[in-house]
Amino acid sequence: MSDGNTYAEVILPVPIPTLFSYRIPGSLKAKVKAGMRVQVPLGNRKVYKGIVRRCEIQEPGLAKVKNIQDVLDEYPVVSEVQFQFWEWLADYYMCTLGEVYRAALPSGLQKEYVPRFESCTMLAESYQDEEKLNEVMDGMSRAPKQLEILQHMVDLALEKGSMASGMTKSELSAGYAFSQSAYIALIKKNILVEYRERTSRLEYSGRKIEAFKKLSSLQQTALEKISSLFQKQQVVLLRGVTSSGKTEIYIQLIREQIELNRQVLYLLPEIVLTAQIVERLKEVFGDQVGIYHSRYADADRVETFLRVRENPVGTEYKVVLGARSAIFLPFRDLGLIIIDEEFEQSYKQADPAPRYHARDAAVVLAEMYGAKVLLGSATPSFESYYNARSDKYGMVTMNERFNQVTPPEILIADIREAYRKKRMRSHFTPELFSLIEETLSADKQLILFQNRRGFSPYIECFSCGWIPACIHCDVSLTYHKQQHRLICHYCGYSRAVPSSCPECHDPHLVTRGFGTEKLEEEVSILFPGYRIGRMDFDTTRTRKRYERIIRDFEGGQTRILIGTQIVTKGLDFDNVGLVGVLHADNLLNFPDFRSFERSYQLMAQVAGRAGRRDSFGKVVIQTTNPSHPVIQHIRNGDYHTMYMSQMEDRQIFHYPPYTRLLKVTLRHENKEVVEKASHELAGNLRKAMKVPVMGPQSPLIGKIQRMHLMNILVKLPRTAEIGDLKKLIKREIDAIRSNQEYRKLFIVPDVDPV
Ligand code: ADP
Ligand code: ZN
Ligand code: ZN
Repeated sequence: MSDGNTYAEVILPVPIPTLFSYRIPGSLKAKVKAGMRVQVPLGNRKVYKGIVRRCEIQEPGLAKVKNIQDVLDEYPVVSEVQFQFWEWLADYYMCTLGEVYRAALPSGLQKEYVPRFESCTMLAESYQDEEKLNEVMDGMSRAPKQLEILQHMVDLALEKGSMASGMTKSELSAGYAFSQSAYIALIKKNILVEYRERTSRLEYSGRKIEAFKKLSSLQQTALEKISSLFQKQQVVLLRGVTSSGKTEIYIQLIREQIELNRQVLYLLPEIVLTAQIVERLKEVFGDQVGIYHSRYADADRVETFLRVRENPVGTEYKVVLGARSAIFLPFRDLGLIIIDEEFEQSYKQADPAPRYHARDAAVVLAEMYGAKVLLGSATPSFESYYNARSDKYGMVTMNERFNQVTPPEILIADIREAYRKKRMRSHFTPELFSLIEETLSADKQLILFQNRRGFSPYIECFSCGWIPACIHCDVSLTYHKQQHRLICHYCGYSRAVPSSCPECHDPHLVTRGFGTEKLEEEVSILFPGYRIGRMDFDTTRTRKRYERIIRDFEGGQTRILIGTQIVTKGLDFDNVGLVGVLHADNLLNFPDFRSFERSYQLMAQVAGRAGRRDSFGKVVIQTTNPSHPVIQHIRNGDYHTMYMSQMEDRQIFHYPPYTRLLKVTLRHENKEVVEKASHELAGNLRKAMKVPVMGPQSPLIGKIQRMHLMNILVKLPRTAEIGDLKKLIKREIDAIRSNQEYRKLFIVPDVDPV
């Protein structure tokens, strides 16, 4: 019954699967519109910024509703298309709209309230010297929360111009688990100072625009094919070998959209989103380019967010270069989404919900806007290649590098044979060793790839075999030599290196295996006199440090670059004559149905860094198993054969792309509880549906951060209506959740896990 009042349904950033009803007081009636943020009370004390999903509702959803307290926007920040996209995400990835809301808006737009004057903070004067600060930070391994704050502080300050730059506290605290007590500790230690100031805004740079590059005839043909495929297909896969010049093709497609007054979203994996590509885009599109990713200050994210909407002065961004969360930007009119390196795992958000895959979600988003999607890669994901081969997507192939540069020559070096013949020097086969010497004496640079960070993956007691393990997780601790500590790579726990074995008191502890830190040390001994850069999680925690390592290598100051996965990603260097993969077996032996696909992609990527400008690039892959099929396919550059042979297994064992996976992870402090609950859930799922339900099974690492884990894997058919099956699964999960016996049990569904 209508009571004369009007009501609004509001999305709140809480994990409760409903919309919340509020009365719109008369004074706000003219102002409230769908998509605007409103301030509303929840419970007795809390006040939230919610988003109005619908207004002008005549009947309250509940008996007792509270008033909207305030309207925070003049224009909607979320459009109707965006809402539909949110609803699709919540439904497909089995989460709540509140969870999508949290992921979708930069935190500056969803904090509980905004003071007019914000708390600001900066480094105290005596710590504005980088060397001095580094010293302090190096001594902080026992205060990881404080360390993290300082790392963000340095990043943001340098981004703003100097170590002396100030920033708002909300900028400093955005994007990670900011600890208030650690922040206060830093102020008490006089490392940080706090002050109050009005927030500022970004300024235009007024940069000069440069001319477009002329496409080669190969690029031109590819561009024309893409355009003609777009006439009849929504998604096109551009399969171009590394250095074939995909970026310039993207640039032409962006230009076309801008001429049509439509916008472009250009997605890149976080780690590839470096100054290199940003600079190239700004060279041609100037201030029409926005950037959106988590390593930028929140105020800048808010700015970009608001500037892709319809803007009165016509200053809206026409193209946004962003990491996965950029799919949430409120575009006025999207015409094209480019997804570069589309196979990258990091497009999938693992935690928290929504656990979305930005590539898959982008295809849905594009459909809502009537936009096209271009997927780019040298080594497509099997899912995309499968879609292209079955004509669901169009496909365009470029098999040659730009400027007819010949692809690098790939050599396979047998580690086992070299050991047998006693010809290994440290971790180098004679093949790799002599090519390193040759490359250095020819004044060229080289990249060495090792998939492990730290000094050595574990240490061991020489007499009894004792291996120090994490107290919170089921893993051994990695030895980091520089910090002289043993560190858990899963939870960050660290401890001093014991002086003797606690089991048998033998002081003889030995290091086993090798990570990037050890590799760096050995290279500096074997090839003295050359500057080495090391790029891994430990050396790239701040964006500035990461960019400095790249800049030093780009400028030739460092001759040798050593790194983990990070070095394989999209970087474009002129003078790299050699790439070495130290131990390919690490990759191949990982127990996952995608490990061969991944190994191939990773090795092809890292190999692609060699010889990009001239024809003398060489790649050495060291392995104990030279006849391994993936190694052979890599050597022959034969993606297609690798794909075909793997697809057979995928079909037989019901893996994607022949099925869709849904992984349910259960977590509890007590092992018996999680085992009992997961057996019960798996049993109920088997009873409820006719699709294969695997497990429950303890994952490779059965305990992380004191929580015991169990996985259940459901293989959903691609053909059937999976919506109904998901509802069934959700019902069974909710039944377990509501069981009193399983309080404190976490159940996390993950749709299309990677
Ligand atoms: P990919 O993304 O396919 O690996 P890039 O787009 O990085 O390849 O291009 C490889 C190199 O070739 C880059 O250094 C780029 O500047 C250069 N390049 C590509 N296309 C052109 C062009 N049309 N004119 C001049 N240089 C080009
Ligand atoms: Zn011992
Ligand atoms: Zn741990």
